Amino acid sequence: MLLKELILKNFKSFKNASIRFSPSFTAVVGPNGSGKSNVCDALKFGFGEKRLKKLRAKKVADLIHRGESSSSVSLLFEDENKFYQLKRSIRKDGKIKYEVNEKSQNLSSYKEFLRRKGFKGIDTFIIAQGEVTRIVLMNPKERRTFIDEISGIAEFEEKKKEALRELSVVDERIKDTNIIIGEKIKYLEQLKREKEIAELYENKKKRLDNIRATLVLRALKNIREKLEKLREKEKSLLEKKEVLEKKLEETTKEIEKIYKDRTNLDKEIEAKTQRSSIYKKMEKLKTEKAVLEEKIKNREEKLREIKKEI
Ligand code: ATP
Ligand code: MG
Repeated sequence: MLLKELILKNFKSFKNASIRFSPSFTAVVGPNGSGKSNVCDALKFGFGEKRLKKLRAKKVADLIHRGESSSSVSLLFEDENKFYQLKRSIRKDGKIKYEVNEKSQNLSSYKEFLRRKGFKGIDTFIIAQGEVTRIVLMNPKERRTFIDEISGIAEFEEKKKEALRELSVVDERIKDTNIIIGEKIKYLEQLKREKEIAELYENKKKRLDNIRATLVLRALKNIREKLEKLREKEKSLLEKKEVLEKKLEETTKEIEKIYKDRTNLDKEIEAKTQRSSIYKKMEKLKTEKAVLEEKIKNREEKLREIKKEI
């Protein structure tokens, strides 16, 4: 990208100025105090320099042409046949305006545009008055650092260092994460063991429940069978009871009958007993009669004998 033109309006010592740059090099020449350094300041201002000291100013008003209220710097670029205009304006009260191709921007998008075009920062491409001597007097190491900075290597070194720093942070994080992962794995293994134990418990419990259920079923079956048998027994016993009750009834009737019979018999016996005493008296009388008849017979005999004798 090539800077083609610098347009100044009320910037420092310039009321209206336009400086064209050739593709090779441009020299701005003039007597002391003619404003050569102000051109550089204008470039820095246009590229977004914020530090007043770097612009050789003590206050904002120093950047504005004496007697004016605002100033602006425009940078015209050419990049692959395309033209770009960057414009930065400042007011006495300090208000700053940024534009890219006449479109208003904030500072970061303005700088972002420059970065995208390969711009690496103001300090890397402006060598101020007196800087040449400093560069000449530098020792090789310092000069190397300076050249690295200008060529952008320093930036990459910085980026490399930053990347290494980030890498070590990431390494550290990886270590931490590995420790955490190790702990998690341990925890996971413990959980796995607990899970296995829980599953084992669950299986055993299921088996136990099954066995219990089987036992209960078996017991229930036994009880049912026993109940069935008991019911049958109860039935047969009830039948027996019925038979026995009938028998009892019959026997009771029989006993009643026997009682009646006995009563009758008793009466009969009584009657018979009475009869038998008469009979006995009769017997006695018969015996006495027989004895008497015997006596009579004897007397008659005696009588006959007596008669005979007589
Ligand atoms: P040298 O050769 O000594 O380095 P130079 O050409 O670099 O000089 P500059 O320092 O660019 O000169 O310009 C200084 C001049 O700019 C002074 O004359 C000063 O009055 C003028 N100047 C600075 N700021 C303003 C301003 N805000 N309004 C008007 N003129 C200003
Ligand atoms: Mg000067």
